[in-house]
Formats: sequence, structure tokens, C-alpha cells
Amino acid sequence: MIRLADPEATERFGAALAARLRAGDVIALHGDLGAGKTTLSRGILRGLGFDGDVASPTFPIVQAYEPPDLRLPLWHVDLYRIEDPEEIEELALGDARADAALVIEWPERLPRLWPETLRIRLEAEPGGARALTAEVPAAWEERWPPQ
Ligand code: ADP
Ligand code: MG
Repeated sequence: MIRLADPEATERFGAALAARLRAGDVIALHGDLGAGKTTLSRGILRGLGFDGDVASPTFPIVQAYEPPDLRLPLWHVDLYRIEDPEEIEELALGDARADAALVIEWPERLPRLWPETLRIRLEAEPGGARALTAEVPAAWEERWPPQ
């Protein structure tokens, strides 16, 4: 378990993850509303060199970021409002992996995740810290922990 004391620590952790991120990677961010998934995503985007605003992409469901705004293409996905499995198909997330990394909030909405997905769970602790736990697939073994 990794303890993230405040939002800045969560962003720093995201930036450390970003330094190891490659096209084709999928990061699934599990956790309740307010757990810090978007904060961690913002840290990843900052770490990839993006310096604009990072909002939760609830509308639209996918926010695509492209070089030269950041080091590699990244889709920030928030599936909170997805209900129909057909809508998920239309997003063509699998195709996007050909040249982009995916960061997915509410990944529980997907019927299945790719086997090499890095699964991160964020949980609020009393006092504001967040507990981060991960299921680390083979593709991430040499890259974990990122800091
Ligand atoms: P989610 O995307 O999981 O719904 P957000 O990242 O949008 O969550 O919101 C997390 C909220 O919790 C923000 O208001 C953030 O400032 C606050 N917060 C407090 N402590 C932390 C922490 N240690 N890590 C991340 N966010 C934190
Ligand atoms: Mg969010």
C-alpha cells in the first residue's frame, strides 16, 4: 500500500507513473467518487508535459490528448455515465491502444479489461490521505513502484 498524504502527493505519484508510461498501456483507476482518480490522472498528464486544465471527462466520456501538447497520445476516459454496453463498443478503446495510452476512471463499467492492465485502487483514509493499492501485471513488473 502506498500512502498519498494530500492531492499534491497524488499528482506527484501520477507524474512518476507518467515517466514510465508507453503507448498501449492501460491504467484502470478504481475508487469511489472523490477518491482521487481525476487528481491522479491530472498528475499523469502533467508528467507527460501537458500544462492545460484537466477536468474529469464525464462529458464527453473520452478526452483525447495529442502531442505536441504532451509526450505521447493519451485518452483520459471516464465511464461513470455509461450504461449501454454498445456505447462502450463505440468508443473503440481497443483500437486507441494502437498508438495511445489509456487512463480509465470507472473501469468496472467495461465487460472486461485487457490482461496487461495496471489496476490501481484509491481509497480515502481518515484525515484526507489516500491509500493506493495496485494489481501489477507482467508488463509493469519492472516499472513498479514508479517512485
Ligand atoms: P474522483 O475522480 O475519484 O471522483 P477527484 O480527483 O475528482 O476524485 O477528487 C478528489 C478530491 O479529493 C479533490 O477535491 C481533492 O482535492 C481531494 N483530496 C483530498 N486529499 C486527497 C488526496 N490525498 N489525493 C487526491 N485527492 C485528494
Ligand atoms: Mg473523476
